[in-house]
Amino acid sequence: MLFCAHVLKTKLSMYNRMTSITLHGAVEEIGGNKILIEDGSTKVFFDFGLSFGKYGSFFSPYLQPRRYSIISDYINLGLLPDLTGLYRQDYEKRFRETSSDPKYDGVILSHPHLDHAGFLSYVRPDIPAYCSSGCKAILEVFEESSYGFHQYTRIKESFIVRESKRDASKKVKDRTSTIPRDVNIFKNSFKVGDVTVHPFPVDHSVPGANSFVIETSEGSIVYTGDIRFHGRRANFSQAFVEKAASFEPELLISEGTNIHEPKTYGEMDLQQDLFSIVENIRGLIIVNFPVRDTDRMRSFIEAAKKTDRSLVVNMRQAFTLKTLAEYDVAQMPGLEEVKIFVPRKGWGVLDDMNYPIEIQMQDYQSWENQFIEHENRVTADDINANPDKYIFRCDFAELKYLFDIKPPEESIYIRSVTEPVDEEMELDQKKVDNWLKYFGLYPYTQLHCSGHASGYDIQEMTKKINPKKIMPIHTERPTEFSNFHGDVILRALGEKYHLS
Ligand SMILES: [Zn+2]
Ligand SMILES: [Zn+2]
Repeated sequence: MLFCAHVLKTKLSMYNRMTSITLHGAVEEIGGNKILIEDGSTKVFFDFGLSFGKYGSFFSPYLQPRRYSIISDYINLGLLPDLTGLYRQDYEKRFRETSSDPKYDGVILSHPHLDHAGFLSYVRPDIPAYCSSGCKAILEVFEESSYGFHQYTRIKESFIVRESKRDASKKVKDRTSTIPRDVNIFKNSFKVGDVTVHPFPVDHSVPGANSFVIETSEGSIVYTGDIRFHGRRANFSQAFVEKAASFEPELLISEGTNIHEPKTYGEMDLQQDLFSIVENIRGLIIVNFPVRDTDRMRSFIEAAKKTDRSLVVNMRQAFTLKTLAEYDVAQMPGLEEVKIFVPRKGWGVLDDMNYPIEIQMQDYQSWENQFIEHENRVTADDINANPDKYIFRCDFAELKYLFDIKPPEESIYIRSVTEPVDEEMELDQKKVDNWLKYFGLYPYTQLHCSGHASGYDIQEMTKKINPKKIMPIHTERPTEFSNFHGDVILRALGEKYHLS
């Protein structure tokens, strides 16, 4: 009898172990989040990102993955998990048999940074994705305007051959076939399979960031995505924490990028410092800030207003603002608040009356054409004529335009991006320094605040949410979580953790 009771108990506990979490990325590294949550027969990924660290340890601009075997190469190198029924079939069938049906119910994105969303391009299109409107807008801008493999909402089918339109006896590569993916925009709670997902907008350094509470059959799981408490939307993050606490969660999966940092300098401190830096500048103010950080853009728009200048952004940023407005994303800078820099490209014939407008336009990508004659556009000549009227955003690839702009004396360069974190970034910074020295803009002013919560704020968040267990992710220092929580769950990459 005793034996039977023991077997029954074991069987019951196995049956009860319905909910599991497997980290397929972001274990002891920053980024590459791919969190598989399984509950009964439901399988959902939270984020499906690219690990820049792992990618950079194998690849460079001169050593690129092989296109036809990209998924198998990534699996071999540990950049993608070896799972079936997950990857797009046009690529998967090049190296193994594919299953006819998908084996996953959805991919839910916390935000559109590529270390969270970039590998959605390799997921089969019959697996639906879920994200906020801001996130979808940014992904569409990537698809339309960025180099690289960006296929989130539209999958361009590869390796298809069709008859030539000119000569039916000949075959040609078909590059036109596309399969749309359902990218569902969430505002409120939604169900995927058996789990209920509650999204909460939070503060981060890109539009459309969300944290989640996930209700499973064995209790609630909270996933922070990337979060901070010192930006323009800190109140959003605080509201999320209060809501998350009310679920009395079993587990908090928390980012820990800056777990070792004490309290952090915030965006409003930055804006204040920026005001005092720019107020007495008589020349041109040149700045570099992250291309999709619209809250940092807001700080520079405010600084421009204070000094009777206009912030000049590039065409990709203008396209981003336009798309965010089309998606009705709240609290974003409007296109009317900035000027759009249209550089000379290719033949360099912008505004050259010897060349018809259609020839001038051929120097630009099709998505750029809408800005060439935009009422808010400015050229290098405009900035050169009135340098004290502008704050010019200029990233690494745009430094060459300073030849036309010719920054006058008493101009400054403000570096508003993160400090170099690896050798490649250090080398690039040395190049930036050389350009700045050439144009008399060196030394520069550094002014930046992080997109990630400080250790202090993560500790406060954890105290308030009060989870039974905590699982660190997106950090190189996961063990530091045990300084403030008694039950820290550490698992290896791909190792399943059962919630009970
Ligand atoms: Zn991240
Ligand atoms: Zn992020």
